[in-house]
Amino acid sequence: MTIIAVDPFYLKMPQITDAADGTQDTLLVRVQTDEGITGWGECDASPLVSLSAYCCPMSHGNIINIRESLVGETLDSPNDVVRLHQKVLRNGLDIQQIHHAYSGADIALWDIVGQKLGEPIYRLLEPQSESHSKLPYASVLFGDTPEETYQIATRLCAQGYRAAKFGWGPMGKFGEENDVALVRAAREGMGEDAQIMIDAGVVWGDDYGTAYARAKQFAQFSPTWLEEPLAPDAIEAYMGLSKRNPPVPIAAGEGSGTYRMAEDLILHGGIQFVQIDVGRIGGITEAFRVRQLAEGHGVQYVNHTFKSHLSLAASLHVFASNESFNLLEYPAEGSDLSLRLTVERLKVGSDGKVALTGKPGLGVHVDTGAMSEYLVPVRIQLGDQVIFEPVEF
Ligand SMILES: [Mg+2]
Repeated sequence: MTIIAVDPFYLKMPQITDAADGTQDTLLVRVQTDEGITGWGECDASPLVSLSAYCCPMSHGNIINIRESLVGETLDSPNDVVRLHQKVLRNGLDIQQIHHAYSGADIALWDIVGQKLGEPIYRLLEPQSESHSKLPYASVLFGDTPEETYQIATRLCAQGYRAAKFGWGPMGKFGEENDVALVRAAREGMGEDAQIMIDAGVVWGDDYGTAYARAKQFAQFSPTWLEEPLAPDAIEAYMGLSKRNPPVPIAAGEGSGTYRMAEDLILHGGIQFVQIDVGRIGGITEAFRVRQLAEGHGVQYVNHTFKSHLSLAASLHVFASNESFNLLEYPAEGSDLSLRLTVERLKVGSDGKVALTGKPGLGVHVDTGAMSEYLVPVRIQLGDQVIFEPVEF
């Protein structure tokens, strides 16, 4: 097959607020081939900054846009996807956000090869493997108070979630007593049998002494992990924390914009869970490399996903074939845009778990009717020369 078109699409809700909700807008990428097979992918990044990486005029040999690197290329096998990943990153060496931006195209290429070969993506990554369903955990913010957190937790419990992550909001901002009360409320609301995770939302920066003290206090509530107690790049602080042997496992990694950042956390940060966003790190190709590194170092791989079920499916293919990586961050809520974007949704089954659809490629398709309702046409013109304009889909 030959790649004949690479098109990014900017989608948004009518109103964008400053809430920490990454589903308010998105960048979808469609890749088309001369055999009529089309693939889709989604980026978790600033959509228009990323869009520019698909069309910016060449500055020199290290700033060549993604579209130019891909159109006309051969695409028949997983090896081609990996080869094109290397080519795009080499051609875009000096484009700062290239990994974020390329994530969508990389996912689309895997989708195409899977469709062509009649295989779901996880089986292209690991031939002959089986996919394993995962326990979804609902990801929510702490309430403003412990009481509010308790209400949220009881609601999630009533909805049937057997695992939930509480994060950000007041955590770390009003002293030790309030922090402990928040976690106690989460545990009491979810009940003794549920798994709870605590996301500190990078609140202690590089202060690993406080992070350690909180981990000790939270241990009585048996959280599965304490997530991002420190800044994403505070690797030495993570190292300091892990050397103290905290009684609660430490999770981090969603801020990894490159493989190298995740590698640093695994090799030098002493974390027990690595959380990778397939729409940020450079797509399935890079996320799978992190999974393999995690397997070699006794670290559990978990997805970070707060986008549509297109991203959720892409995230799950990366680690579906490893049975012991059993947790799935599950975007249960989100904007209408994110909820309506796909024809299929990865629903929670009667066993309380989430599985892939089993169809070739991603196994999830974009609902182009819904897409058209949120699409914002983008046109970029330099003088008289149009370098980007809306296309049909
Ligand atoms: Mg987080």
